[in-house]
Amino acid sequence: MAATDNSGAEKKRVVVVGGGVAGSFLARSLQFSAHVVLMDQKEYFEITWGSLRAMVEPSFAGRMVINHSDYLSNVQIVASTAANVTDSEVFTADGQSFAYDYLVIATGHNDSFPRTRPERLSHYEAEFEKIKSASSILIVGGGPTGVELAGEIAVDFPEKKLTIVHRGTRLLEFVGSKASQKTLDWLISKKVEVLLDQSVNLDGITDGVYQTSKGETITADCHFLCTGKPVGSSWLTETTLKDSLDTRGRLMVDEHLRVRGHNNVFGIGDITDIKEMKQGYIAQQHAQVAAKNLKLLLKGGKESKLAKYKSSFEVALISLGRKEGVAQFPLVTISGCIPGKIKSGDLFVGKTRKELGLKPDI
Ligand SMILES: Cc1cc2nc3c(=O)[nH]c(=O)nc-3n(C[C@H](O)[C@H](O)[C@H](O)COP(=O)(O)OP(=O)(O)OC[C@H]3O[C@@H](n4cnc5c(N)ncnc54)[C@H](O)[C@@H]3O)c2cc1C
Repeated sequence: MAATDNSGAEKKRVVVVGGGVAGSFLARSLQFSAHVVLMDQKEYFEITWGSLRAMVEPSFAGRMVINHSDYLSNVQIVASTAANVTDSEVFTADGQSFAYDYLVIATGHNDSFPRTRPERLSHYEAEFEKIKSASSILIVGGGPTGVELAGEIAVDFPEKKLTIVHRGTRLLEFVGSKASQKTLDWLISKKVEVLLDQSVNLDGITDGVYQTSKGETITADCHFLCTGKPVGSSWLTETTLKDSLDTRGRLMVDEHLRVRGHNNVFGIGDITDIKEMKQGYIAQQHAQVAAKNLKLLLKGGKESKLAKYKSSFEVALISLGRKEGVAQFPLVTISGCIPGKIKSGDLFVGKTRKELGLKPDI
């Protein structure tokens, strides 16, 4: 199943499905070691941790929405949706097929994105206009996306009335209660109304009036839905990998990040069943380990030499506008300017661009 390169030498084929953090970084690491195909439903990589800033400052999106072809010089990019996989091939929804020697599944979370970079940039312009023209805004969901969006709007548009409605009993349930409380205190100090332990009925909203499950009424000019996205594995449920999905649809992987029961298939990023936070910097660590193991296997190395993935200590950084934030380290949780200095200025966008071999600015 090998492909030949320009010099006529044979190269093994690696198909990477998913061009998010995990798949994109892996494809970049492997691009000179194999014939690499990156299959993604969109033509670009997006630095997700900059996306809430782009909603209040759309020019920010120009640095964080990056065509795959800008950082991958030696990868075959296929902008199509993967629909099926067998033991030797991946099939796209638009009828193409790609043979593989090694396969990497990195389809993270399901979301619908515009296909092209210009469309994505226009989307951010439209979101900005929606925020700018509203006097009151409802944010549905108090996880990291909802909270960070509230932070951006509260700082850049302090005159707007903001409400967050969250189904859980505390904000940011993926971190500890101290971090949740510090975040809540900050939002209240910015006059954001936070309604916990209730949901909003988004069907049949009339004249900007929303009803919550606890009978409260919220009036808002617009809303943003910031609830969690399902795992991106629905396309695998009728395939050769179906028995490697756990009951929550996560891909079960071994200590080398190989999909259980399939020695030539790796699973990386948010789609895996590893018990740890689902975070981008962790997806990058998965990509590093899988790239190392693939390079070994591509050279015919021994399985006993495969690297093991071990979760490192977890850090959560939540930005609250441009200068402040909350940081949860293993032994301490802090809020204010120090986490703000670490993350909130550039939101690691320049750093991530450098890691992709690009200039921090355009
Ligand atoms: C708004 C927001 C802010 C965040 N902030 C931070 C942060 O500050 N720090 C941090 O560490 N993490 C952060 N995260 C989490 C981080 O973005 C994720 O952990 C990371 O993106 C996971 O990477 P992934 O590659 O596994 O999956 P994803 O990023 O979900 O990528 C999956 C890719 O697969 C593609 N895809 C899906 N299905 C198919 C298919 N069938 N065929 C082809 N392509 C497919 C999608 O187009 C996408 O490109 C944030 C996430 C969001 C949404």
